Amino acid sequence: MPHPLRYLPITLLLFLLALSSVMASEKSQADKIFEKFDRGEPMTREVIEENLKLLSQLIPSHDVIRTEKLQLLKCWDQSVESDNQVKLALENTTKALASIPKTASPHYVTDLTLCHSWLLEQSGDIHGAMEGYNKSVTRAYQQEDLKLIADSRSLRGALYSYIGDFSSALDDLVTAQNLYESLNLTGWANINLAGIAGSFRRYGDPQSAISYYTKLKEIYVKNNNQELAISVTSDIGLALDELGEHQQAIDNYLISYNYFKEHQQEAVAAVLATNIAFSLIKLDRLSEAEGYLAKAAPIIDEKDPPAYSFMKLFMAELKFKQGIYAEALKELTQGEQVFRKLQNDRGLLQLLYLKSDIYFAINNLPAAYQALQEFVTLTKQVDGNYLSHHTTELKVKFSTNRIESENKQLIENQNLKEQELTLLEKNKSLQLIILLLTGCILAIVSVFAYKQVHRNRQLQIIALTDYLTQLPNRRHIYDQANQYFQQALKQRTPFSLIIFDADHFKQINDNFGHEIGDNALITIANATNALIGNKDLIGRIGGEEFLIILPNTNAERALTLVNELQTHIAHFSAKELPSTLRLTVSAGVATFDASNHNALSQDKDFASLLKRADAALYEAKNAGRNCVKVAE
Ligand code: GH3
Ligand code: MG
Ligand code: MG
Repeated sequence: MPHPLRYLPITLLLFLLALSSVMASEKSQADKIFEKFDRGEPMTREVIEENLKLLSQLIPSHDVIRTEKLQLLKCWDQSVESDNQVKLALENTTKALASIPKTASPHYVTDLTLCHSWLLEQSGDIHGAMEGYNKSVTRAYQQEDLKLIADSRSLRGALYSYIGDFSSALDDLVTAQNLYESLNLTGWANINLAGIAGSFRRYGDPQSAISYYTKLKEIYVKNNNQELAISVTSDIGLALDELGEHQQAIDNYLISYNYFKEHQQEAVAAVLATNIAFSLIKLDRLSEAEGYLAKAAPIIDEKDPPAYSFMKLFMAELKFKQGIYAEALKELTQGEQVFRKLQNDRGLLQLLYLKSDIYFAINNLPAAYQALQEFVTLTKQVDGNYLSHHTTELKVKFSTNRIESENKQLIENQNLKEQELTLLEKNKSLQLIILLLTGCILAIVSVFAYKQVHRNRQLQIIALTDYLTQLPNRRHIYDQANQYFQQALKQRTPFSLIIFDADHFKQINDNFGHEIGDNALITIANATNALIGNKDLIGRIGGEEFLIILPNTNAERALTLVNELQTHIAHFSAKELPSTLRLTVSAGVATFDASNHNALSQDKDFASLLKRADAALYEAKNAGRNCVKVAE
């Protein structure tokens, strides 16, 4: 039967393989979801929530890297549709920033800072947001983290664009665009492209903006991304307005307006209504404009400052054109406060220009002059940011080359790092394999070692045992006897030997056959074993000759024992052997008594004691057999 240990290494190996494959499959499922987010794949709120929930279930708490990734996703995917949601998200993230564990990776810290800055921007804290973006950009470069560089520069670029610093905006956005494209992050590249187009538009190059927007719209339409395609359509409307193509702009806005109305996204639709109103005012279709502003007014309030400020500006312009100056000024004042708070210079410029017009219309020339003067100062200041159209354009083109070479360097570094990481991973799996193999080899070796020890023991037993009677053989019993003799000598205790021999055994063989002869020998062994004590030992020292060693036994006791042995053998043979077979033995007894001076001189060793016992046996044989003689 195969030893059960034989299956141990195989079982162990299969178990480890199964375990590692289970771990690997959970890992890959989580990683697949992460990839979707990484690529910037558009998802609905429900899908996002579902994926985040699934990730929480899949990732064990000891998996630090993926836990961090999940925390970051949770930050970026917080709802920010209402003011309250923004407030809550900002609170959550501020808390998370304050309790970053010491073991957190630099990537985690930077990305969380970036997310926090983005939420600051959503809450209207432009200064705080810019400060956070700057910090994130610096750190992302220090960490040579390409995706993070792209993310932080894309967000900072959008904010630069919003506050009217278009050359900085384009510098950031073009860098981010290159990185996203080299990293194959198409989703993010598209969103960033929208930022670039927006910057060109705000920067006063609506033609370039429209060409970028159109490219983007084609991508979204091709990918069946209806909502994003619709958003770009309204962006094109803004650029068309700036080109003076107001009717075309209205056509674009209306597509978006109807879509969002249909999909019950009232807030987005309301902003589009204000855009339509703006274009209508420019076309002097004032009552239509009034209708759209009336639709927007109940929905847009101070809680959405950017939309609110422009709505107020358009309302002021409408009232101005309608000749209702006092109301125009009222709307204007409300809008002005918000533009100043938002530091939206571009909006403020439009507003100041209108302000001077209104004051001029009501003949308040000092106020008109003051507004105009502020307009001029602000224009100069903003122009300082713009530089001139052409030099900025050149600068952007020049920077593009610089950006490209910088990005190349970054990507090369990243590739090197990735190679190192792959090597490290390979080493790790190699170590695991070596560990597994070592385990298996150890298990196999132990099985063999166990078997070998077992075999050796068996061989040893075989070497020291008489195969027929299973008694210790001559060599073994002599070894034992020697040891007992030395012990008796040292401890000064008596030590007896009985040597006995079956009588006329040749005849037994002749009369009953060799097999019965063998059985007779076994009967002698059984009878003796049944009689002697625990410490006594019997061995077979010849064909039909046996030796009993009796430690701590004097001559008298030995004699009693040998007499009993004769009776015992008779009993056993009656039970186990043919009834006509008469099995008797002759025995010689010799005792060594260390307390006796004579004995000491007589028996120097076991051999001399054995010799005396043998002589006694000879005597017994001579005395007619089936008797015992005690050595002198
Ligand atoms: P004695 O009373 O003088 O001892 O006579 P004996 O016949 O017993 O002695 P002898 O030495 O002449 O013969 C011993 C016999 O024991 C011879 C041999 O065939 C037999 N014998 C020895 N070993 C075995 C054995 O393993 N099995 C069997 N069946 N017989 C054995
Ligand atoms: Mg004999
Ligand atoms: Mg003999």
